[in-house]
Formats: sequence, structure tokens, C-alpha cells
Amino acid sequence: MPQIERLFERNRAWADRLKETDPDYFRNLAERRKPEILWIGCADGRALADRVADLPPGEAFVHRNIANMVVPSDLNCLSVLQYAVEVLAVRHIVVCGHYGCGGVRAALAEPLRGPIDGWVDRIRLVRRLHRAELESLEGEARERRLCELNAIEQVRNVADTTIVRDAWAAGAGPDVHGWIYGIDDGLLRPLCVRNRDDDDLRIVRDPG
Ligand SMILES: [Zn+2]
Repeated sequence: MPQIERLFERNRAWADRLKETDPDYFRNLAERRKPEILWIGCADGRALADRVADLPPGEAFVHRNIANMVVPSDLNCLSVLQYAVEVLAVRHIVVCGHYGCGGVRAALAEPLRGPIDGWVDRIRLVRRLHRAELESLEGEARERRLCELNAIEQVRNVADTTIVRDAWAAGAGPDVHGWIYGIDDGLLRPLCVRNRDDDDLRIVRDPG
């Protein structure tokens, strides 16, 4: 049987396993719909929100794209953000980058062909913003730092949207966190946080 068709078998086995330990598992899940976290992460399958933060299904509302970007012209991302802030009233937004990100690596390499190059251009913008710091680093250290800086800049982009600014002005709205995940050690690390009481984001800790 082709590998792709085995996924249906695996799905049934997975659903059966969960129902064995809790017969109401899926019924309860269907009724619960109030996540407290909007997670903006990379499309890379090794950095999934529920896996790396060990979240039960439904605890996070998730948006993913290449290199966890928040682009002001991206209707998809902004719609997710608006729904999360205005309807779900999430308490936290996490922008989670990861080390070893292919999108970030592409921003340090030669131009690509096709629409993906326009997307990677947004990461090159972060690279230009932090040129002096990045040029003082080499190789993997430079790439890892750009992964961190990219996540931090996307926190700024979230905080600059009218969606979040309006919520903060109304005395509500979520805290916005920048995190980084290590695919090679399985650990999440905080980078920065921005909330409605601060004028700028606060660097939480330099992960080195
Ligand atoms: Zn990535």
C-alpha cells in the first residue's frame, strides 16, 4: 500500500487509541472552542505548536507560514489576527521562530526564483535592519541570530497592527511574545515581550 494511503490507517489507530483511554475525547474537544493563545509559527513540520509546547488540542489558535512572518499586506495572517483578538479575545500571541529555519537561511543566500523570493525579501529586510550585528557574526551563529531577530521583528509587526493597537487602546488586548525553538534540543526560549503598558518591546533574555 502506498505510504500516503497508510495515513488513513494511522488516523484510525490514533483515534481508537484516544477513545480507549477517554471515550468522550472527541465529543469534549468538539464542544471546547476558546483558545487563550494565538500561535504564529513556521510552516516547518518540526516546530508544531501543540507538540513543542505540549498543548492539548484546541489550546492554541494557529497561523503558520514560511519563517513565521507577519506581513502587513498578508490578508490571511491579518484575518487570523483579527479573529483571534476580536472574537476569541486571546490573552497571548506567541510569534515562535526556530533555529535551522529554511526561510531564514534563504535570506542569507542567493536570490530564489518565483514568488517565494518576494516572501524571503521580508526576511532580508530584517537582515538589513540588523546588518552591523549580523556582520559581526559568521556562519551558523549569524543564521541563528537572524532566526531570533526575525521573530523579534515579527512581534513588532504584530504590535504595529491597528487590530492590536485598537485592542490595547480599549484597555484590553493580548501580550505579544517572541520565542525561539531549538529543533536540535527541543527547547523553547523567550526572546521578548510587548504589552499594552510598554512603549516598546522588552528583551526578556539574550539566549546567546
Ligand atoms: Zn522555519
